[in-house]
Amino acid sequence: MNSFMLIVFLLFFIVGTISVLSYIVYNEQKLELKALTEQELEESYVVEPQGKSGENTPINNQGIYINYFLKKNGDVVVGDEFNPEMRSLILDKVKGWSPEGIQVKYVTFSVGNQQEVHFLIAAKHVLNSGGGTGTLYIGKDVSYLWSMFQWLLAVLLGMLLLFVGIAIGIGQIMTRRAMKPIVHSYQLQREFLADASHELRTPISILKSGLEVMDMGENNQLSSFSSDLLVDLQKEAKSAAKLVDDLMLLARTDSGAQPLFYETFDFYSLAEQVVRSIQNVTPPSQIQLNLLSDRSLHFYGDLERMKQLLYILLNNAVQYTQPGGKVTLDYFLEEESQATKLCITVTDTGIGMEPEHLESIFRRFYRVDKNRSRESGGTGIGLAIAKWIVEAHQGDIEVESTPGVGSTFTIYLPLT
Ligand code: ADP
Repeated sequence: MNSFMLIVFLLFFIVGTISVLSYIVYNEQKLELKALTEQELEESYVVEPQGKSGENTPINNQGIYINYFLKKNGDVVVGDEFNPEMRSLILDKVKGWSPEGIQVKYVTFSVGNQQEVHFLIAAKHVLNSGGGTGTLYIGKDVSYLWSMFQWLLAVLLGMLLLFVGIAIGIGQIMTRRAMKPIVHSYQLQREFLADASHELRTPISILKSGLEVMDMGENNQLSSFSSDLLVDLQKEAKSAAKLVDDLMLLARTDSGAQPLFYETFDFYSLAEQVVRSIQNVTPPSQIQLNLLSDRSLHFYGDLERMKQLLYILLNNAVQYTQPGGKVTLDYFLEEESQATKLCITVTDTGIGMEPEHLESIFRRFYRVDKNRSRESGGTGIGLAIAKWIVEAHQGDIEVESTPGVGSTFTIYLPLT
């Protein structure tokens, strides 16, 4: 970023320097030419009537290269120049030019061997001593300035490249240095995540099975308060166990220790199984859960992870949809740039999300409405895992959502 800023600043600097310099040099040359024209008119240039032009003294000093006096009808009365070849070219350039006072014009043209010539030409209407009117043109070859500017530009651009190279190099070294403690603390965090979830797993499993035993054995003898408490504790232990499982999975994906077990399976059977098991815990009177496609489709991927992916998306859809709403799972094949993809959509008519959240919901622990999410047992990990599963299968996941209308999660998976 810093290197990029430096490039932009240097470019501005170069453009600024060249523009200011060329403006100054151009004006200075213009003034000089105007002064010479005035001087020429006042002192040295005595124009004789037509026919005596040979008596004029050609002026070729002080960088003046052309020096014409034209009569009104366009005939050259007096003229001298270093390079007579240029006369017709220059006359061509000033044709139809009717200057007011002393005017200066910048012209370019090619001579002989295609060499580009840059000229400043000053012009002024004058009365000659013969009584007629004409225009005096005095020109100056500024090609040497032009090529000097080209060289200057080349040198500045060369320096820009050099400085950018140095800046990028130094930037890389500095970034690596600055990143060291960040990488280290990130590493520590990952290790902590892995260790903590591993350490929590055993006591939570013991707690969970202990509560199940209590539930089976002593339920009848417990007071109604204690039995309510037992139900609550079981629920909490279950979500704690799920959280620990999710955290462990994330820790393994971070360290690259979570392999995928590829196999070919029928996607329809999987979708049907997941929909059925969610339907079992979601009364149809509350939310209508549908599987649209009934097409048998062979998919090559990790069966367990794909099941987890569908669970996460359908569970979220059910959780964030009010009673009476609708959740739909669909899948179909899509041709995209000569590759066939499996496209899975999970659509709900739920609460939806504001656009500013859509980028972040796939981040770990991100929840749009923390209170609501906590009430429904959400931890903000589900979609982070979903994204990892999709990307581990070289796919993409996208979301579209409208607050109060619903959300659609779309997954594209390549068929390998
Ligand atoms: P959680 O466990 O909190 O549901 P997720 O990672 O699965 O965590 O989702 C992150 C957040 O995205 C949720 O807290 C919720 O605010 C939002 N979200 C996910 N799915 C939906 C959906 N279908 N409709 C509305 N909001 C959703």
